[in-house]
Amino acid sequence: MDLPSLPQRIEPETLTAVLDGRWAGLRQEVRAQMAGAEFPDRSALSIEEYRGQVLDDLRLLAKTSHARLGFAREFGGMGDPAGSVIAHEMLGFGDLSLMVKAGVQWGLFGGAVQLLGTRRHHDRYLRDVIDVNLPGCFAMTETGHGSDVQHLRTTATYDPATSEFVINTPDEGARKDYIGNAARDGRMAVVFAQLIADGAGRGVHALLVPIRDADGRPMRGVTIEDCGPKGGLNGVDNGRLTFRDVRVPREALLNRFGDVTPEGAYTSPIASDGRRFFTMIGTLIRGRVSVAGTSGSAAKRALAIAIGYAGTRRQFARPDGTGEVVLLDYRAHQRKLLPALATTYALSFAQHELVSALDEMHGRQSADGPQPSAEPVVPQPGTGPDQPRKGAEPDERRQRELESRAAGIKAVATWHATATIQACREACGGAGYLSENLLTTLKADTDVFTTFEGDNTVLLQLVAKGLLTNYKSDFDELGTLATARFIAEQFVGGVIERTAARAVIERLMAAGPGRDDETVLFDRAWQVRAFEDREEHVLEGLARRLRRAASPGTDPFAVFNDAQDHVLRAARVHVDRVVLEAFVAAVDRTADPDAKALLGRVCDLYVLANIEADMAWFLQHGRLTATRAKSVNSAVNALCERLRPHAQTLVDGFAIPASCLGAAILREEPGRQHVQARATAH
Ligand SMILES: Cc1cc2nc3c(=O)[nH]c(=O)nc-3n(C[C@H](O)[C@H](O)[C@H](O)COP(=O)(O)OP(=O)(O)OC[C@H]3O[C@@H](n4cnc5c(N)ncnc54)[C@H](O)[C@@H]3O)c2cc1C
Repeated sequence: MDLPSLPQRIEPETLTAVLDGRWAGLRQEVRAQMAGAEFPDRSALSIEEYRGQVLDDLRLLAKTSHARLGFAREFGGMGDPAGSVIAHEMLGFGDLSLMVKAGVQWGLFGGAVQLLGTRRHHDRYLRDVIDVNLPGCFAMTETGHGSDVQHLRTTATYDPATSEFVINTPDEGARKDYIGNAARDGRMAVVFAQLIADGAGRGVHALLVPIRDADGRPMRGVTIEDCGPKGGLNGVDNGRLTFRDVRVPREALLNRFGDVTPEGAYTSPIASDGRRFFTMIGTLIRGRVSVAGTSGSAAKRALAIAIGYAGTRRQFARPDGTGEVVLLDYRAHQRKLLPALATTYALSFAQHELVSALDEMHGRQSADGPQPSAEPVVPQPGTGPDQPRKGAEPDERRQRELESRAAGIKAVATWHATATIQACREACGGAGYLSENLLTTLKADTDVFTTFEGDNTVLLQLVAKGLLTNYKSDFDELGTLATARFIAEQFVGGVIERTAARAVIERLMAAGPGRDDETVLFDRAWQVRAFEDREEHVLEGLARRLRRAASPGTDPFAVFNDAQDHVLRAARVHVDRVVLEAFVAAVDRTADPDAKALLGRVCDLYVLANIEADMAWFLQHGRLTATRAKSVNSAVNALCERLRPHAQTLVDGFAIPASCLGAAILREEPGRQHVQARATAH
């Protein structure tokens, strides 16, 4: 297949500029900090040594701007939530135990205090959270309820006689489990519990509960167990917490969304328990966005190692006697790594759009700082004095859409990281299995990303529900039957909402496609239309299937359960389209013409490898003829060949600090010099 040629040499910095985008300054700052640090493989340390090392590293990190970025200025922070997500993503190039420990301390624990609490909590705790004088935990998951946290069973019962809440673990299944920072270092936990006030259950709320005293001993009534060795991330001390009649003052309730008066009356700006719960959870979206970003960094690091090695390692002689073949010259090797590289670029741009959307919604704090968040006094919906800055309360539908996008990108990005790291490990052969080459640790540490911050399968169901209900404000709350009724009555078809570069895509769509030969595969308008068409078709088919659940005499659960594969697929193809739009937007805004041409080809590879992997659907639904389907296979091969000479440039464009690429196989040794490409760059 004859493709237009690419320039011979493209400067990686031009790619870095596009990838870094509007956060280039912050990313460079973090890179400079990381350049001075060391990130050796620590898997040989004992668990205790590793945990101690990570805590020391966390305290060092607390001295940089990293810790402060996400917090309000008046408490010593920098008022830049999106910046904090970006800085966290960069930590994903280094020791992932440190990244997770930082995420627990500042993202989950500190984030919950800031976003679910009010002035009294901010004044009292935030500075100590930032400085790690108060190491904390985020204790939501229970042994019996992980994904379904709305039904967790820890109780917080208000006792008006003493103005205290009494925290209890009613049974083994209600034990808090897997909690980061709990086994060794945490002093306080944000505990999620069913609130009982005035004799009535008020749904899940969060309370600040001290778990250790100043000497590190468990507080009275608190039992702490160590989860022990894990499959990875062993520098993080995950533990289990059980509470027996643990009393905390009334003020320990993080009361932004619900409060209890001294007499025991419950007040909330949100009437419905379910809606309040999902609003609270939605507020904590940053953790999910951060995991998506860090999984991208881990995939980039693995690709940098595997592609670096593949450019030097030789195996088998050429029949013409001209020497041994460099691994990256094998088409099979290119196919192993280059489509994954293209998807990594695609997801990186999608992550950029996601963080930008987060920034837009949750806003950067002005230099004057936020309006003070006061104690709530019988607040009215959306107007209570404990609300964030006036006028800044995000529009609900957009908030739901953002949550859904974060869920979808988190799921797709973490699955991609897991698969890519495995492919990179294999691509390095036996060397890939040695700890000194970092890939095994990377694989072990990122494995659980598909589970924590929301199990991926459960998250994709949330995405599909949002699409089916058009982000109706209370879609989280809709049960199976209500969702079926909603679909039966209100779903009129898939709505393709542009997420990035609306104007660019509209322009593309208006212009093309103009051809109908095999070159149409490289036509951006054709590509976008193919993804859109697939999304609409899958979603409409799903809606038709689920409508049956609303028919009288039908068991809605059985209908929904039977359609779960379809639900997941609808979410997946939706995310693929959103990711493609982000890539198209990034190519469009690339100023350097050579980088633009290269990224255009990488985008082609992302699209065509995706279509190739989903060929059965395109053929079954008559979207591709057998002839054109074969052309897709040839096009992927042709793109791999074209991109091969630029593979090293593409990973160099990630600008991963050298301190994070200490894999022994990347050191240049006699007979292993980097081979740009045997053929000259096309
Ligand atoms: C290393 C680590 C650190 C963690 N840190 C914390 C922390 O600091 N704080 C905290 O609160 N939690 C933490 N967690 C808990 C984590 O968030 C949960 O493990 C996660 O939410 C999944 O819950 P679960 O383990 O109960 O799995 P389950 O929800 O039981 O899921 C098990 C399987 O069932 C499937 N499944 C579940 N529901 C459905 C459904 N409706 N349809 C189809 N399939 C379904 C899932 O896809 C999954 O494959 C941590 C976990 C780990 C492993």
